[in-house]
Amino acid sequence: MTSALTAELESSTINNAYTTAIAQYNRAASFLDLPSDIIDYMRYPRREFTVNFPVRRDDGTIEMFTGYRVHHSTILGPSKGGIRYSTHVDVNEVRALAMWMTWKCALMRLPFGGAKGGVVVDPRHLSYNELERVTRRYASELVPMLNPQSDIPAPDMGTTPQMMAWIMDTYSMTVGYSVPAVVTGKPLSIGGSEGRVVATGRGVILAMMEALKRQGRTDAESISLAIQGFGNVGSNAAHYAHSQGFQIIAVSDVDGGIYNPNGLDIPALLTYYDKNGRLGGFPEAEIISNTELLVLPCDVLIPAALESQITASNADDIQADLIVEAANGPTTPEADDILNDRGVLLIPDILANAGGVAVSYFEWVQDLQSFFWDEEEIFRQLERIMVRGYDATIRTAEKYNVPLRTAAQIAAIQRVADALMTRGIYP
Ligand code: NAD
Repeated sequence: MTSALTAELESSTINNAYTTAIAQYNRAASFLDLPSDIIDYMRYPRREFTVNFPVRRDDGTIEMFTGYRVHHSTILGPSKGGIRYSTHVDVNEVRALAMWMTWKCALMRLPFGGAKGGVVVDPRHLSYNELERVTRRYASELVPMLNPQSDIPAPDMGTTPQMMAWIMDTYSMTVGYSVPAVVTGKPLSIGGSEGRVVATGRGVILAMMEALKRQGRTDAESISLAIQGFGNVGSNAAHYAHSQGFQIIAVSDVDGGIYNPNGLDIPALLTYYDKNGRLGGFPEAEIISNTELLVLPCDVLIPAALESQITASNADDIQADLIVEAANGPTTPEADDILNDRGVLLIPDILANAGGVAVSYFEWVQDLQSFFWDEEEIFRQLERIMVRGYDATIRTAEKYNVPLRTAAQIAAIQRVADALMTRGIYP
């Protein structure tokens, strides 16, 4: 039986993150011996919320903003997922990101379902005060959905720990008492966790090191990395990789990138970027475009910006033999097939970037218990969870003879399906 959702997507000519997420899901689910109605059930987002809200700009005018929050699944626990501020945000992007969160939490054995939120806004075009008003109003529109037991946001592209603080405060003011566990990725001073800011980038590099170790490639200095995106995830991945001895030969942001085949001095670059707000002009580095970065000669390519960067039109030209997906959904299904045929190993997003939600889980647990761990404990537990997720993916890949993306999704979908069928269908 073809569901309404499948029919809608199949008739759509638009290639967006959601068509990618559904194509990946269909591919992985086809390996599982599950009833077709259960497979169909898990395709659907549980709830979708769209909000249109007014915000007063600094010049006194009122501007309308649109935001979303999608809960894909709550089968394994409260829904968990970041909030994105970007002009590219639309309901299909948020649906895809929410679905990927469900599989990510299931794969990593975190007791969460999947959610995502977004506001259609370029945060660089608003003042600090305007950002606070947008964030607080969006948070107050979401109050009926948020709760430490039902839905817990976190930062994503375009959002910061300060914005999580405003969400925590808005929620707390509404209910009348402080609720730190309603959001993760908060500043330390209000119940954030040690290690959360660096967790996603560090986890990406831990996943990369696990892959290299299994290939017998342990000489970090001989391994070169190109990283697209120099925000929270990309810059922390670069920093941790550099501290482990790897050569980072190129990085980029939305305005383009820089390249030095002998390796960039990452600590100096971080200071330069902080001061100047741009990569261009950094000494001893050549300016390159984002398109060029993806096809540079290097050992490891780390897309850490946004979706659909590796497509059928550039997958053949990629020279790295290992791709570690720090971003969500950076590779289209057509590109997956090309890379797989070419023998390029790809560590999929739901495994590679799961360090962020893993430490968000630790933050939530610490907030609920009002008992806080030190950084050493956080990093030890982070590594344990990343290696466990990697092992589960490899075991599934061997069992079904499939690439790592399909393997990670098979393992995740099976876990959600087991829980769903054990709980039964209400009423
Ligand atoms: P961020 O806003 O901190 O940084 C995004 C980076 O991407 C910036 O350097 C920006 O300039 C760059 N960028 C934006 N548009 C671009 C374009 N068109 N081409 C090239 N670069 C572009 O966001 P982030 O939190 O680092 O998130 C990056 C990716 O990682 C996203 O896909 C996000 O969903 C994913 N992710 C983030 C976390 C987290 O904890 N923050 C966790 C898991 C996954």
